Amino acid sequence: MMTLSGTTLPIGSGLNKIRDMKSIRYLYKIGKGPSSSHSMGPQRAAELFRRRLSQTPRTIEVELYGSLAATGKGHLTDRAILETLSPLPVKILWLPEKTLPLHPNGMIFRGLNPSGEILDTWEVYSIGGGDLLDKEGPVAISTSYPEYEFNTAAEILRECEQKGISIPEMIRSRESADFYDFLEWIWKVMSDAVDAGLRSEEPFLPGGLRLARKAPMMYRAANENIDFVRNLNLVSSYALAVAEENASGGTIVTAPTCGSAGVLPGVLYYFHRHHRMPIKSILDGLIVAGVFGSIVASNASISGAMVGCQGEIGTACAMASAAAACLLGGTPMQIEYAAEMGLEHCLGLTCDPVAGLVQIPCIERNAFMAVRAVECAMYSLATRGEHLVSFDEVVEVMNQTGRDLQTKYRETATGGLAQIIARRKFPGITTTG
Ligand code: SF4
Repeated sequence: MMTLSGTTLPIGSGLNKIRDMKSIRYLYKIGKGPSSSHSMGPQRAAELFRRRLSQTPRTIEVELYGSLAATGKGHLTDRAILETLSPLPVKILWLPEKTLPLHPNGMIFRGLNPSGEILDTWEVYSIGGGDLLDKEGPVAISTSYPEYEFNTAAEILRECEQKGISIPEMIRSRESADFYDFLEWIWKVMSDAVDAGLRSEEPFLPGGLRLARKAPMMYRAANENIDFVRNLNLVSSYALAVAEENASGGTIVTAPTCGSAGVLPGVLYYFHRHHRMPIKSILDGLIVAGVFGSIVASNASISGAMVGCQGEIGTACAMASAAAACLLGGTPMQIEYAAEMGLEHCLGLTCDPVAGLVQIPCIERNAFMAVRAVECAMYSLATRGEHLVSFDEVVEVMNQTGRDLQTKYRETATGGLAQIIARRKFPGITTTG
C-alpha cells in the first residue's frame, strides 16, 4: 500500500507501481481545464458513481480529502462534480486536514435513498491525468485499447536496437488500424488550443488574481525580434497559449496533465509551423512523447499531489524533449537521453499553486519547459546519446523525491509561492474549503 508524506520507500522496490503500461491513448485525454486530477478525475468519478447506483438517490454526499479539498475550489472540483450529477441534490464536504490511505486526492461518494439509507458508497482516488484508482485497482477507461508488454525505457531501447526499428515503429506494431486517426484527433485539439490562446482577446484569466493573458503579446513580441530571441518567444507563446486556455476552462489534451498541457503542443506547433515538419512527423512526436509520459505514469506518478510539480511539468518536459529529439532525427538512444535530461533537471520541483489556481507558477512554467525541451533535444543530438543516468533511473529518483517532499509542496497550496502570496488579499478568492 502506498503511504503519504515523509514516507521513504526503497528505490526500485516496485511498491510505487500503480499500473502496468497501457496504450499511450490512455495518457492523452481531451477535456476541459484547469486540472486533470482536480476537475477531470472528479468529473469522471461522479459520472461512474451515478451509473453504479441501482436507483435514483434522494441525495449524494461527496467527501473530498487532502489535496482535493485543499485546492479544490481554485481547481473547480466542486463545479465539475455538481455539473456532472445535476439535477440531483449534492452535498460536498471539504476535508483538507484528512487523507484517505491510497493517495492524497481521495473522494468518498455516498448515495442516499429517501429514507436516508445508504444505497452505495465508493472510495475513489484521482491519481493524475484524469485517471482513477479504487480499492480494486485502476478504474478502466476502455478495454479496447491494447496493453504493452513492456514497462521501461530500457526494454524499449533493447527492442529498437535488436530489430533495427524506431520507437514510433515499435509502438505502431502494437496498436490497431485507427491509431493514426486517434493521433490526428489529439493533434487537432492541441493545435486548436494554441490557436485559441493566441487569438484570445480576454485581458485577464478567471479566478480573482487578475493575471493577464500573455500569449498574444508574447507572439507579437516574437515577430518584432529576430533569430534566437524570436524562436524563444515563439515557443513560449505557443505553450503559454495552451496553458492560458487551460486556466480559462478551455478544451485541452492532458500531456500528461492539464496543468502541464502547454509544453508538448508548444514544441510540436513550433516545429510544424516554423520548420515545416509534416503532420506524419508530428504524430510520430506524439507517439514518442506518449511513451515517455506513460513510463512515468506506470512506474511513478504524474500527480502533483503525489510527487510535486516534477511529476507534472517534469514529465511534460521529458515528453516534449523526446518528441523534439524525434523530430530532429534522433536515434532511440538520443531520444531517451533528451527525455532523461528533461525530467532530471526538474527533480525536486514543488507544486505550490498560488490561491490553489492553476496559474502561478503553472502557466509560465509551461513556457519555460517548452524552451528547455528544445534545448534538451539539441543537447542530446550534439552527442551520440551516451549518458550515465538512464531515464528509468530518473523516474525512480523522481518518485522517491516526490514522496520525500513535505505535504505543503504537493498541491495543497499551503507552502512556497502559495504561502507567500497568501499574505496579500485578492477579491473573490477562497483557497480552501
Ligand atoms: S505547480 Fe505544477 S503540479 Fe502544481 S498545479 Fe501547477 S502545473 Fe500542476
